Amino acid sequence: MPESSAPDRGFRSLLEVEQILTHITWLVTCDWEMRCIPSGAVAIDGQDIVGVGTTNQILSIFRGRETIALPGFMVLPGLVNTHTHAAMSCFRGLGDDLPLGRWLHEVIFPAEAAIVCEEMVYWGTLLSAVEMLKNGITTFCDGYFFEEAAARAALDAGSRAVLGQGILDFPTPDQPDPARNRERAIQFLKQFPSGSGRIRPSLFCHAPYTCGPRTLQWAKALCREHGILLQIHVSETAREVEDLVRTSGETPVFILERLGLMDPWTLCAHCVWVTHEEIEILASRGAGVSHNVESNMKLASGVAPVPRMLEAGIRLGIGTDGCACNNDLDLFSEMDKAAKLHKLIQLDPVVCPAPQMLRMATCGGASITGWEHQTGSIEVGKKADLIAVDLDRPHLTPLYDPISHIVYAVKGSDVRHVWVDGRKVVWNGEMQTIDEERIMAEVQRLVRGRKRSGQRQC
Ligand SMILES: [Zn+2]
Repeated sequence: MPESSAPDRGFRSLLEVEQILTHITWLVTCDWEMRCIPSGAVAIDGQDIVGVGTTNQILSIFRGRETIALPGFMVLPGLVNTHTHAAMSCFRGLGDDLPLGRWLHEVIFPAEAAIVCEEMVYWGTLLSAVEMLKNGITTFCDGYFFEEAAARAALDAGSRAVLGQGILDFPTPDQPDPARNRERAIQFLKQFPSGSGRIRPSLFCHAPYTCGPRTLQWAKALCREHGILLQIHVSETAREVEDLVRTSGETPVFILERLGLMDPWTLCAHCVWVTHEEIEILASRGAGVSHNVESNMKLASGVAPVPRMLEAGIRLGIGTDGCACNNDLDLFSEMDKAAKLHKLIQLDPVVCPAPQMLRMATCGGASITGWEHQTGSIEVGKKADLIAVDLDRPHLTPLYDPISHIVYAVKGSDVRHVWVDGRKVVWNGEMQTIDEERIMAEVQRLVRGRKRSGQRQC
């Protein structure tokens, strides 16, 4: 069905579909033209978008078993968070404002040693999934431990997710013997819950300074064998780059390039300290990069050269990172910060314009996480991952340009309704899939136990 077929009343009956969203004040498609349609409408059948156009066009083609009128709303594709460690919501606000080394060694590592287990990963990931869905993030790309539990949480919450099993050449909470980390990765891939198109497995090598060449190579080989994404932190801090150059003679991107890891199925998180040559390698190999601006600001890691990366044609998305170093999961805020920070650093208000930031948070993110045919834009044939933003707010009045509002004025809390795969997962700001109160209580219980005993809780 063409996206804007002319009305043909009288010659054929209307096609019946499951849902039609009509009278949307602004339908922001994030398609290749970045079309914004006033009085827009979307027809949804099952999990799929089957019609996109004006309300008049859609009502002349389709009849919905359910019709939802959305005047006063802006509808856009669900946002894609390209880098997070969802279970780390359990450490939100723990040890703020410390130097990175002290924060990691004195706060985060002991906290992880005390409570990271399958149960914590399940409840912590659920808490993050709820926060993300309510903030309009329908897809997230995760990396942590016990990722089978994270996968169950994403399924239960109703999110779309790529779940990356963490790999290090050091003892980890779910593999104390690093000599057996390959076995653990294989076991994860075998046990990954199947039967849903909403979740995909991935491997997450922590970084080139915590995973040696052999580990990086077998992990990438496993990813290629299974057709899945390899995630890795790359050049987050100047210190890690200096240390690697001192010990191996090469920077992280050159190491990954030499080992044959750079391709479109490798997602590099951060890339703050990358040279012009490294940018060329990332661009020519088609590797994805996640820009995590708030995490980089809070940990004072540095400023990624995003304008240069965009110019070079690198495939870019936006990530929140774990909310232990952020401390929330709100991509509207990340888009706003990214646009403003790069303007400030470059002393140029023209760089990182709003449409470019929105692309990164939607179709750009979908592309680098491997979901470009399913999500990231509102187009016929894609899955119905949609969010409806309430425009009837003082800080969103008046409205001249919907994309400007999305990047510079909308907050996650303005999201009222969320669909994933055509299913309503948030309605009127309330979760429809799971008991939010119970999740918060379970996380409080896990964290209280840690505080009381300082011992492992599970
Ligand atoms: Zn990270």
